[in-house]
Amino acid sequence: MNDLSNAPQGEPASDQPVRQRKPDWIRVKAPTSKTYGATRDLMRELNLNTVCEEAACPNIGECWSKKHATVMILGDVCTRACAFCNVKTGMPRAVDAAEPEHVAEAAAKLGLEHIVITSVDRDDLRDGGASQFVKVIEALRRTTPATTIEILTPDFRNKMQGAVEAIVAAGPDVYNHNLETVPRLYPTIRPGARYYASLRLLEEVKRHSPTVFTKSGIMLGLGEQRLEVHQVMDDMRCAGIDFLTMGQYLRPTPKHTEVVEFVTPKAFGAYGAIARAKGFLQVAASPLTRSSYHAGDDFRQMREAREAQLLKTAR
Ligand code: SF4
Repeated sequence: MNDLSNAPQGEPASDQPVRQRKPDWIRVKAPTSKTYGATRDLMRELNLNTVCEEAACPNIGECWSKKHATVMILGDVCTRACAFCNVKTGMPRAVDAAEPEHVAEAAAKLGLEHIVITSVDRDDLRDGGASQFVKVIEALRRTTPATTIEILTPDFRNKMQGAVEAIVAAGPDVYNHNLETVPRLYPTIRPGARYYASLRLLEEVKRHSPTVFTKSGIMLGLGEQRLEVHQVMDDMRCAGIDFLTMGQYLRPTPKHTEVVEFVTPKAFGAYGAIARAKGFLQVAASPLTRSSYHAGDDFRQMREAREAQLLKTAR
């Protein structure tokens, strides 16, 4: 449960009790639109995986109806087994050499102004899959040069330096890597990863390119305490992270870790206000927020916020 004894005045005195039935604010409409079907067909035709489907994202109806799909490269089998994630675990197949061109073709056909690319963890590959990210960015720059590119990468365990250097040199507009939860919960929720290694990755991205926007996110409702969330925000700011996302953890299947609580929209609002006060350029905090939810609009707002900040400093 959240540490509610520290609730500032005006914030909810208590979040919702433990329950597995989804509250009303989580319910979403079933996807029905024609555009949804066309987005799905295009992904199939180009043999592309999406995190929208693999992670059973609740926003798929809304996002695909606007042609917003988050492509998941490097296959649909992950070498990790995080307690919250719906992606299959096992021995992945060989890397698809045609994938970078297929991603670029999808971006062109969908007419995307902003694209989000993520991947499974590929601990089996010597570079963790970094060179595939580079090829995808290069293919996108060739085919749809006006599309802004956001990448959401794994932690590249034991190969982080080379991976970050290569990917940042390819020039994405936004580099995202999710911390997912507070450090205390890592052994149960994200056992294959290390909190400080993930933070360092984001710090390294900024060191290599101070102008790239960095982004990270956490899920709420896994048993984190309020002050732990505040500490994560401070750690992120120390690492120079520009954009924080916070959303409700939803249990994909009964085999996955339980929801400890459904955090109310009001509590999300309070967390969002605190994050803004801590100096993030952009904050997205709501039960249905996901890393890539409304990513294009948020990117534009973040870019404007930086421009306004630079103008202020120049005066
Ligand atoms: S929020 Fe992200 S993962 Fe979910 S459907 Fe939208 S684009 Fe896909």
